[in-house]
Amino acid sequence: MSKAEEFEVVVVGAGFAGLYMLHRLRGLGLSAVVLEAGEDVGGTWYWNRYPGARCDVESMQYSYSFSEELQQEWRWSERFASQPEILRYANHVADRFDLRRDIRFSTRVVSAAFDDAAARWTVRTEGGAVISARHCVMATGCLSNTRMPDFPGLGSFHGKSYHTGQWPHEGVDFTGLRVGVIGTGSSAIQAIPVIARQARHVTVFQRTPNFSIPSRNRAMDEEYEHSWKGDYPARRAKARQMRTGIDYPVNPTPALEVGEAERRREYESRWERGGTAFMAAFGDLILDEKANETAADFVRGQIRATVSDPAVAELLCPHNHPIGTKRICVDTDYYETFNRENVTLVDVRSAPIEAVTPEGLRTAEAGYKLDALVFATGFDAMTGTLLAMDIRGRDGLTLGEKWEAGPVTYLGLMTAGFPNLFLVTGPGSPSVLSNMIVSIEQHVDWIAGALAHAQARGIETMEATAEAEAQWVEHGNEVAQRTLYPRANSWYMGVNVPGKPQVFMPYIGGVGAYREICDAVAAKGYEGFRLEGRRVSVAAE
Ligand code: NAP
Repeated sequence: MSKAEEFEVVVVGAGFAGLYMLHRLRGLGLSAVVLEAGEDVGGTWYWNRYPGARCDVESMQYSYSFSEELQQEWRWSERFASQPEILRYANHVADRFDLRRDIRFSTRVVSAAFDDAAARWTVRTEGGAVISARHCVMATGCLSNTRMPDFPGLGSFHGKSYHTGQWPHEGVDFTGLRVGVIGTGSSAIQAIPVIARQARHVTVFQRTPNFSIPSRNRAMDEEYEHSWKGDYPARRAKARQMRTGIDYPVNPTPALEVGEAERRREYESRWERGGTAFMAAFGDLILDEKANETAADFVRGQIRATVSDPAVAELLCPHNHPIGTKRICVDTDYYETFNRENVTLVDVRSAPIEAVTPEGLRTAEAGYKLDALVFATGFDAMTGTLLAMDIRGRDGLTLGEKWEAGPVTYLGLMTAGFPNLFLVTGPGSPSVLSNMIVSIEQHVDWIAGALAHAQARGIETMEATAEAEAQWVEHGNEVAQRTLYPRANSWYMGVNVPGKPQVFMPYIGGVGAYREICDAVAAKGYEGFRLEGRRVSVAAE
């Protein structure tokens, strides 16, 4: 048995959450180590290097706000930053704040167990290292556990296959190849137009069409950059209060309160503006089915106007979920790509994929000869990465047992029975429904505040109470049920992973409202958490 190294805090993951957490822990004077499976920093932006990968939150907003110097000095080259640029930014932050010396790369955590008697976590890595820490922060990301369909014959394919979420670092040259892309979610919708410009032929295997809005991406306009940089504190403050953590124009009017012509004007102007602000065209798009249908109908009209073959256009039109209840996609030339001679759309809802063959793919209807396969088949989202580790709380209870019927947390930050284990942007928090960096900063700041509170009072353990957790889960479900979200077979609901409990995982109450709740909880001495220490014992329920 290796001897455990001791720290106050162990952080798992060196993406945007882990990097900022480490910076804050240093500020508190707490000894900390970050364990990262990848060979470098960046998390999601380290792994997702597929062609066309890009953030769909504007770069001026998808960036840290904690350092005025950082936000002034960093220059984004495009309205929506590409993956390589975001990765450069993560590296810049790691260097600028001298973070690397406390990060262990190529270090995958396999287990974390809470020792009741010592009130400490023991974290073990694949390489056999053992870390003992008072607190453990899971900064493991929500979309970090890739999902491959279990098609028969997967290993028999003669060509190369790739998953968008584990793309080779050296890139892939598709020149002259017949490429099959499986999936039409955000990743595929970004990758397909880029692959189609290079490959001999692209066959897109679509099971469910998605709604996608053009990004209208462009080079960064200097005036626009200056307008943000000159007003960053106010704009960041505004974004933190928004439902999505993004500062964009929100029209609170219900969609059916205005006439058809005005409604159309609003949709057209947002379609021209580009990006996810489309869903803020009216105040009730995710609440009211009829209102939602007006937006869905508008987008279907745009698809039909763009795609020249009416049969292909019809196949690309989503009908099985309200717009926005599956993550809305943002693209560059996605629908236009289906007008290319070298792109074919195959409906695998009516004729599902039956097997991967040595030559390519076979559906219930036909065989397809392919040289390369791209799986854009998504992730075991929000819980997959956490449950892939053997996490054990009090009395050896595993997180898998605790979350058997779906994830339960208090504020998405902690789960009862697992003292001193913090989750960053976990299930039960706005997380994937928001600008992730805004939510990450909010969570990390809150956790840092809780640790400072504990440090000042000699508190050894902090744990969500079962009652507070149950109330939070009930509240989260109630808010979700008021929306159209539960109607979609989405990864938000866990539907994409066979056997996964189907519950709406993120908190839909909005980033601003959620922040107020978290702040109020802290202001009341961490209401709903049990704080215990050797010198002090405070029941703050
Ligand atoms: P995804 O949205 O889960 O899409 C997976 C796709 O694979 C779906 O079209 C799914 O079809 C299909 N699929 C899965 N199994 C299949 C099977 N057996 N047969 C046929 N099709 C199958 O995954 P993703 O595109 O990687 O995106 C995940 C999330 O990452 C996004 O929603 C977003 O939050 C984030 N993301 C963001 C950006 C951005 O910022 N621009 C870019 C990429 C990803 P069904 O729908 O029928 O299940």
